[in-house]
Amino acid sequence: MAGWIGIDLGATWIRIAALGDAGGMHRIIPTPAPHALKHFVHAIRDAVILVGIPLSVGLARAPGIDSAGVICSWPSRTDWLGVPLLDIIRNHTGKFPHHMDDGTAAASWESADARHAGKTAASVVIGTGLAIGCAQNGIPMETGNGAYTPAHEHVEGWDAPCRCGKCGCLQTMLSGGGLLMVMAMNRAHALKIVGVALENAGKSLCQRYGAEQLVISGNILLNPEVKAFLVESLSHYCRENIIFSAVPQVTVIGGALLAAAIGRQFQEGAINEELPELHRVILSGLMRHMTA
Ligand SMILES: [Zn+2]
Repeated sequence: MAGWIGIDLGATWIRIAALGDAGGMHRIIPTPAPHALKHFVHAIRDAVILVGIPLSVGLARAPGIDSAGVICSWPSRTDWLGVPLLDIIRNHTGKFPHHMDDGTAAASWESADARHAGKTAASVVIGTGLAIGCAQNGIPMETGNGAYTPAHEHVEGWDAPCRCGKCGCLQTMLSGGGLLMVMAMNRAHALKIVGVALENAGKSLCQRYGAEQLVISGNILLNPEVKAFLVESLSHYCRENIIFSAVPQVTVIGGALLAAAIGRQFQEGAINEELPELHRVILSGLMRHMTA
């Protein structure tokens, strides 16, 4: 195993994982204010010390970044606008990160899973916001930017205001806060509207991107009440193509490590026959070093 570092930058938490011959690490820190990045930088340095050089770095990010690697859109963390994210990571690792949107990283991870071999996977990651991406054989597909992504499609009959400025976006229902809000409503009604929203999201991703499987993940699935609610809301529909991730808490960081492992081949457009094996190696490495 060459040294791989994966970073998952979310609005509430940052995960930093490293896997190498000398061992591995997996650390979660609260996403700090951008003027207090020392814990973030320390964790990156620890990862570099652990895996050494040569290494490759993958970044799954919630914010949008411009061509110079500077954060240019992040409705839930406007304090981070202007942060030169890619330069910070390169300065502390010596490598320019292979980076992608967190939903795309998650889809890349799920599509590399042997369980979904050969299928186009769409990933729905429920977190502080909602990350959605599509990928086939680990290769990401373009699904839009900012407020023009599947996470901001309008849900019929739903009008909660979204941080993007629109109302009724899927993200305002399928996010940590959104789901808790829906679950506080009349249960039969709540089950129905979430079930319909998921079903429509699946149809839309199928029509637009040819997604054959919708994989739901995110730390929130570790909450048994939320998981049971989602299972029940889907049980009213015949949706065999909507499934739950086997290990929902590693989907995005797994995608970041996968990007590190095959980053160059991504750029060259090569389809890697070793993907299922890479997926297995990264998953077992992550599980070994995961303490939270
Ligand atoms: Zn929106």
